[in-house]
Amino acid sequence: MIYVKASAQHGRGVFAACDIAPGTVLIVFKGPLLRRAEVEPGSYHLQIGEDLYLGASGEADDYVNHSCEPNAGFREGLSLCALRAIRAGEEITWDYSCAIDEEDFAGFACACGAPACRGVVRSFRHLDRVTRERLRIWALPYLRGRHRD
Ligand SMILES: [Zn+2]
Repeated sequence: MIYVKASAQHGRGVFAACDIAPGTVLIVFKGPLLRRAEVEPGSYHLQIGEDLYLGASGEADDYVNHSCEPNAGFREGLSLCALRAIRAGEEITWDYSCAIDEEDFAGFACACGAPACRGVVRSFRHLDRVTRERLRIWALPYLRGRHRD
């Protein structure tokens, strides 16, 4: 259903191998469980809890790029699902602010090209309130009840 290839956005990306219906589970993220202190700087990792991370799996889940207008998001646990119909050949993306929530995360410049690009990828807690509420249902479960004010 998906494959990894060179992406215009980053070194590699994940793409749809066929037309995909909304709600389809695309990838279940996996990897070694790490505490923040165990994460190698610069290595691939995904924050999944306050002090819990997934390290690299070496598989497609390591290569899914960010977009501020993604076509995929988390629905149950670590299952990345299609938010809408996805055409064969389209790049699969999710919004990294749906996972990152470090108080000291400096953010990084975004060049996703979406009309509504936020310009900087930030921690969930540092998004404006409207954006946070919009993303909440696609965020990882540990974030769904957090930062409600
Ligand atoms: Zn963007």
